[in-house]
Amino acid sequence: MIKVSGLKKAFKNTEVLKDINFEVKDGETVVIIGPSGSGKSTLLRCLNYLEKPDAGLIDIGDVSANTERVKKPTINKLRMQTSMVFQHYNLFKNKTVLGNITYPLTASKKFKKEEAVEIGEKLLGQVGILDKSKQYPVALSGGQQQRVGIARALAADPHAILFDEPTSSLDPEWVGEVLKVISDISKKEKTMIIVTHEMDFAKEIADRVIFMADGHIVEEGTPEEIFDNPENERTRKFLRKYT
Ligand code: ADP
Ligand code: MG
Repeated sequence: MIKVSGLKKAFKNTEVLKDINFEVKDGETVVIIGPSGSGKSTLLRCLNYLEKPDAGLIDIGDVSANTERVKKPTINKLRMQTSMVFQHYNLFKNKTVLGNITYPLTASKKFKKEEAVEIGEKLLGQVGILDKSKQYPVALSGGQQQRVGIARALAADPHAILFDEPTSSLDPEWVGEVLKVISDISKKEKTMIIVTHEMDFAKEIADRVIFMADGHIVEEGTPEEIFDNPENERTRKFLRKYT
């Protein structure tokens, strides 16, 4: 389970996350929607400690962090509880597709080379690009590169996967295949938090939807509650732009 309470983050004098509280149950798929600049990426990055939160409690799996006095070993453990899939893929350009997946596994010394290759090939098969394993990212379409990003996130076998607008930089022709891969993974009872502007996809995949604006969670509920019957005027206004 993921439990976040009182999470705060400011850059200089700008409060970007203002007292964020939510929970994600094991196996649940939670979709976060909201206007650009509302703090969605910062929230995901704080969970993974790519950004250091200013205050709040973060519990993920069996790791519990009070962000105001957490020490390095706990931060490292917390980081290992989640994997990120980024908008811009963030692949290692100088490594092959397979190398992108095996490198983090062997670098952490948790796996021998052969084990890492076995895991990598299995996951590349799962996302449908095993035939690209010896290619470099530059030779792949955006959709294929993002599928490598997803396979890499899965390889770490994290407690949860955090997706930050995984299809936002893709040409429209590649969006569907990436959404399909994410949807397949969600059926395997993986815990996932997905930030996306793909509202039809959100409606279909989410167990729960969180609407964020201005560093707050404005409203959360089932996809039916949020999309068909939003309570808050800001949610309604936001959704009008997308439907
Ligand atoms: P979203 O993902 O919802 O579009 P972000 O979390 O990226 O929103 O950004 C929220 C706010 O925080 C924005 O105003 C953005 O400019 C600011 N911000 C994000 N990252 C940084 C940073 N590293 N330094 C300064 N300001 C930042
Ligand atoms: Mg963002």
